[in-house]
Amino acid sequence: MKESSYIWKNGELIAWKDATTHVLSHTLHYGNAAFEGTRAYMTPKGLAIFRLREHCARLLRSCKILRLACPYTLEELESAHIELLKANRADFSGNVYIRPLVYLGYGVMGVAHINAPVETIIAAWEWGAYLGEDGINNGIKVKTSSFARNPIRSTMGKAKAAANYLNSQMAKYEALACGCDEALLLDEQGLVAEGSGECIFIVRDNKLITPPHDYTLESITQATTIELAKDLGLEVLERHITRDELYVADEAFFTGTAAEITPIREVDFYTIGSGGAGEITKALQAQFHDLVSGKKEQNPKYAGFLTFID
Ligand code: PMP
Repeated sequence: MKESSYIWKNGELIAWKDATTHVLSHTLHYGNAAFEGTRAYMTPKGLAIFRLREHCARLLRSCKILRLACPYTLEELESAHIELLKANRADFSGNVYIRPLVYLGYGVMGVAHINAPVETIIAAWEWGAYLGEDGINNGIKVKTSSFARNPIRSTMGKAKAAANYLNSQMAKYEALACGCDEALLLDEQGLVAEGSGECIFIVRDNKLITPPHDYTLESITQATTIELAKDLGLEVLERHITRDELYVADEAFFTGTAAEITPIREVDFYTIGSGGAGEITKALQAQFHDLVSGKKEQNPKYAGFLTFID
């Protein structure tokens, strides 16, 4: 990974190499932490964080769900992001990924976590296409996982919880081992839920369809994509999708902060549509690109979506 100069930790900027933690940190053993994935884009008006407020708000909601007492307010978290990006600005020549994490540090052992110290860090580094440049342009191969999405009776998918990603990680491992690029997880009923780190959309008869949030994260990119689709005059349905409906979709794509809008060209070795990036997918990618690179600044609907750093 490409290192930058500073990491923000508990209110201070420290050198990247000094941002370490004790091996007996509570989270390392019992897995309770909340995190975010946020992006900043290079625009003609300089570096800008995309939907900073929504990401910080979701981080605080995750903390609430996980009973982590984050000591920072929404405004303090936003300011910390800005402070960090300004401090590291000279390190960035391309788009940036930002990773805030609220975790439990050193001092208490045993499952009970409430007396463990809460630590907050924010790191930022330059990071390109999560599923590869070829994936963004030509689509990726997806494998339905043998793992069901985390069951809602035992875990809480509205939290972006570190522990939830064991499920994602095993699914991703399996997908890669099968020669695919990404995993698709079904819920316990066998309905399409989401990717290991993305939401899914399909296109049928010029309508966009995306599953509801029963088993999935409340995705910021999914919400953004729905607005962009409406701008294009497309009908958007939030309803359940079955696996075979996905196989016969005209187009399919993943959305996520890291993945952005990534076309799906194959699922379980079924070719989707014409086997590349579909026309509606490409149109949405173009709209998304315009939005994150500041070309929709004049549109009041998107006011405040970009927080400029420079
Ligand atoms: N689902 C999961 C499991 C994810 O990890 C992500 C990435 N944060 C998403 C969906 C997409 O969410 P967002 O668009 O807010 O990044």
